[in-house]
Amino acid sequence: MSSSERRPATPPQAKVFLEGRYRKLSRDLPQTVFFCPDCKGHPRRRRGCARCEGFGKLTRDSVQELVGWVLGAAFKTRKHKFHGAGREDVNVRMLGAGRSFVIELIAPRQLDVDLAACEAEINRRNAGRLEVLGLHWTEKARVSAIKEARRAKEYRALVRTSGAPDAEALARVLGQRITIRQRTPGRVAHRRADLERERWLELVSCAPAEDGWDVLLRTQHGTYVKEAISGEDGATEPSLSGLLGVACECVALDVTAILDEEGREPEAAPAPAPRAPGFGADL
Ligand SMILES: [Zn+2]
Repeated sequence: MSSSERRPATPPQAKVFLEGRYRKLSRDLPQTVFFCPDCKGHPRRRRGCARCEGFGKLTRDSVQELVGWVLGAAFKTRKHKFHGAGREDVNVRMLGAGRSFVIELIAPRQLDVDLAACEAEINRRNAGRLEVLGLHWTEKARVSAIKEARRAKEYRALVRTSGAPDAEALARVLGQRITIRQRTPGRVAHRRADLERERWLELVSCAPAEDGWDVLLRTQHGTYVKEAISGEDGATEPSLSGLLGVACECVALDVTAILDEEGREPEAAPAPAPRAPGFGADL
């Protein structure tokens, strides 16, 4: 065999896909890198940028970066993509069993990595801010699967009201699945068409708290929950404000469970394999 016919060296694996869940315990952490909207983090344009003062980002870090920095060091690559199963606002905590994500590590130079040790390192570095659970090897098909799944959610909201909710109205509403119509909220109107959508919500409980009402509610996939609470001047009809007969404002919000599409508790996922059977197939 001449040297020109020699089999080329095995190419480095192009991508590795890992899946896990994250719990976000702070109200200052976006899911993905929060680039400055003015300079977009561009290395040259950000230098004179008044909005971010040259930092290129509006927050110090994100779930993506806190996970990606540790995994990037272990897999010896600086490039990764982060895919969440939906997302919550920066100031919304993600509690309960967490939210699924897939991280895609691009052109890793190290593949022999102890994922349990990486998970422990992420959690050690970010105690009180972020927790990662169940990190395991997965495959590319999981990216679209987690992004396209429709999930109802359970939220706990601290709601400030203009007075005590009407007791009879509250009794009527509790536990009922109520259809609401929502127009695109003002806060996202710059990037979404103004459409009316129909969604459902269920008020699970509503109890007086120190500085408002402690409200547990479940909403259909794609519900604007802060607006479902306030009504946003009629843009959501009916809203919790209208249903309870008092002005309601959501002052703090947590996701407490990610449910299935119908709003039921999802069945426990099977324990992930320590090594994906197809590991190495995603070239
Ligand atoms: Zn900037």
